[in-house]
Amino acid sequence: MKALVHHGAGHKSWDTVPDPTIEAPTDVIVKIDATTICGSDLHILKGDVPSVAEGRVLGHEGVGTVVATGSAVSTLATGDQVIIACIKNCGRCAYCRRGLHSHCAGDEGAPGMGWILGHLVHGTQAEYVRVPYAETSLHRLPEGVTPAEGVMLSDILPTGFEIGVRYGRVKPGDTVAVIGAGPVGLAVSATAGLQGAARIIAIDIDDHRAQQALSFGATHAVNSGGSGWQDEVRALTDGDGVDVAVEAVGIPHTFAMALDLVRPGGNVANVGVHGKPVELPLQDLWIKNIAISMGLVNTDTLPMLLRLVRDGRLPVDRFASHHFPLDRILDAYDTFADAAKTNALKVVLGG
Ligand code: NAD
Ligand code: ZN
Repeated sequence: MKALVHHGAGHKSWDTVPDPTIEAPTDVIVKIDATTICGSDLHILKGDVPSVAEGRVLGHEGVGTVVATGSAVSTLATGDQVIIACIKNCGRCAYCRRGLHSHCAGDEGAPGMGWILGHLVHGTQAEYVRVPYAETSLHRLPEGVTPAEGVMLSDILPTGFEIGVRYGRVKPGDTVAVIGAGPVGLAVSATAGLQGAARIIAIDIDDHRAQQALSFGATHAVNSGGSGWQDEVRALTDGDGVDVAVEAVGIPHTFAMALDLVRPGGNVANVGVHGKPVELPLQDLWIKNIAISMGLVNTDTLPMLLRLVRDGRLPVDRFASHHFPLDRILDAYDTFADAAKTNALKVVLGG
């Protein structure tokens, strides 16, 4: 089959590689119908994530069709169209039973995400992928949801909801600041309303991105590229600061912004993946009585989010800015990497 293979810092190619095969009785082989590219794939390719071995197929988001099942798989059959969760879930270990799939003690890594979980399996930017623990890691695509829409449930929608909204303990009537209006920040804006947020303030240095958030559920868009934007945000909170500040960029500066914007007694939810140490000025913060949360997505809310998508309650059709056939994935990478020029949000392959 053909697959996008990582060949060390700065190198990737669309290679012919062996077809995946069933290796464990709980495995399923999925033919990819839609996949996409994530910012973390760019990090891996830049060499920021040296634990991802050369020769790995990248990608951890996908929708596809089951073409083979292991002997222990009884709830999925050939022909089923499924969403692949970016985090595998053995369904049996103590962590999975608590919904903490990101700490699954099963012995397989998530597709293409071994940089977080240690063990590696090949990813979804390929014609076929082997999915471990298939019965609990795959979710049937409902009728009426396209593969290009369903693929937004592999990672970004659960991440925005679980790590931004749920960990941030958003409550009815809250004012929520979402720093960063990339796909993940937009997923936070899109899901904050599910917990009753009254005001959702999208903040980005890129004006186009901030404005775009208004069609993803944000009630206000703030460009933080210039001066005076902090006053703009405070004016929307009666001068107090926001109830919940969500960091969805992954740099020290935006984490500091979240600490500054949150009101006393509020919550800071860090979603961004930080490649560098981040300062935590407890000497100033302790007096603010705030809670700070963070974490890796679990995708335990994927079934709940999928019901909302099925019923048209989430703007899932808005994330895909560009479509390419799978065999033009190298062009898709160029488009995604040059987002400042191309306005790329999610670049969908296939679908
Ligand atoms: P992205 O790079 O597409 O978007 C980031 C956005 O932040 C961009 O719109 C950019 O303009 C904006 N930005 C950059 N600098 C800024 C600044 N100084 N002030 C305000 N805005 C600024 O990223 P994404 O795909 O949306 O992901 C966001 C973060 O979430 C990344 O760090 C990613 O690694 C992380 N992530 C975390 C998890 C998890 O499980 N916790 C899962 C997926 C992604
Ligand atoms: Zn597990």
